[in-house]
Amino acid sequence: MTSINWLEETQKRKEDLIRTTQSFLQIKSVLDPDSVKEGAPFGEGIRQALDFALDVCRQAGMTTKDVRGYAAHAEFGQGEELIGILSHVDVVPEGDGWSTPPYAAEIVDGSKIVARGAIDDKGPTMAAIFAAKIVLELGLPLSKRVRFIFGTDEESSWQCVKTYFESEEMPTMGFTPDADFPLIYAEKGLTDLTLRQTPAAFSAKAVEEAADVQAELVSLQSGLRMNMVPDKGEAVLKPKALDAGVIVERYRQHLTENKLKGAAEEKDGMVVLHMEGVSVHGMDPGKGVNAGTHLIHFLHTLKLDARAASYVGFADEYLHNQHEGKSLGIAHEDAEMGPLSLNTGVLEYQAEGDAIFRLNIRYPHSVSFDQWSAVLAERGAKEAFELEVVEHLTPHRVDPNHPLVTTLQRVYTEQTGEEAGIIAIGGATYGRSLDVGVAFGPLFPGRPDSAHQRDEYILIDDLVKATAIYAQAIYELAK
Ligand SMILES: [Zn+2]
Repeated sequence: MTSINWLEETQKRKEDLIRTTQSFLQIKSVLDPDSVKEGAPFGEGIRQALDFALDVCRQAGMTTKDVRGYAAHAEFGQGEELIGILSHVDVVPEGDGWSTPPYAAEIVDGSKIVARGAIDDKGPTMAAIFAAKIVLELGLPLSKRVRFIFGTDEESSWQCVKTYFESEEMPTMGFTPDADFPLIYAEKGLTDLTLRQTPAAFSAKAVEEAADVQAELVSLQSGLRMNMVPDKGEAVLKPKALDAGVIVERYRQHLTENKLKGAAEEKDGMVVLHMEGVSVHGMDPGKGVNAGTHLIHFLHTLKLDARAASYVGFADEYLHNQHEGKSLGIAHEDAEMGPLSLNTGVLEYQAEGDAIFRLNIRYPHSVSFDQWSAVLAERGAKEAFELEVVEHLTPHRVDPNHPLVTTLQRVYTEQTGEEAGIIAIGGATYGRSLDVGVAFGPLFPGRPDSAHQRDEYILIDDLVKATAIYAQAIYELAK
């Protein structure tokens, strides 16, 4: 049995694999609220893609079950234990600027299939199904069951897996072909949080403004999403003890001195300040330039009205260039997962309304959420900010010595000849939906990631190689 040449077996089925993958990709499986109906909670296209995957599985000899269109599974093998393979059939919207039509799934340069979903996650889904077909067609004896679980809204709210696991069996262990090779075994805890200025602390009448207030902050707006570093910020000031022209001049000087991009203008007796930053993903905020907190850093050089001064002062001390939460007292780092990261993704201030910071904080598994969030809540309260937890996903980790990890490592090395280092990340993969789950491919080390971008593609050689890897993996895990 050890003499099976998995790559050769895949090569024999290569044309069928390519054609089936293309047909799968030609279904536009984007979330479509307009065509939602019973059995199709995310619309017609996603339903069609789910049916397509189930059909291929049934033809290969698997039994299937549909969980009201939220998710479905296809199973083979026998035994007590269950090996799960979790992937998703939905894709993000295609966007503009494609070189070939996004749902044509054309083969470009004879070497890659170009389509929305090619690498995320329909290409790898089909690779894994064909891998199972190989195991089935070779008639290999298995002592465990193998189950494909197809999710349908991974790209939006993960209702699919939530609903599925309310009624269906949790696999003993499993993998998701929805991230990177070699293998992701650990993911930080993820939180979205709001710090909101307590309105009572600054009721307009209670605060007698000092005569030397240089400007009133009318509004500040920066950022759209908690998990992105904002690349634009705008503040509107009403000049008081300082002339508009002086504020404009100081701001321009500040930009030059700090090598920042932005602009200042006078408009209807107000001063409008623009800041430009560099947007990157919120899991690595130090790599970007936060337009919002940089704008705040300038505002902190002015004497503002009391409420704005509190807002600006808090952000300048605790959020500006504080990517690891040091001055808040929540910094924590471990060797496996690295440091806690803090991104200030959205800043909103209205003189006549709310004053809010929206944060994305990711933390390693060696510190508990309760521990650091209590420190943050206490610090916020001292400065008249209320902490609200919008979203919290606990850290996810499989022991590096677990047979799931060691087996997949060995398979990867046997198929590629490369060492299979295991990875801990700050992001979230679909693998965290499984109690004992890792992400395993499909993107090989060094390959550019085209997921969610125009001209998304999968290299045909990689599709074939991934299929061979998954085939051996399924066999080794379930034999
Ligand atoms: Zn995906």
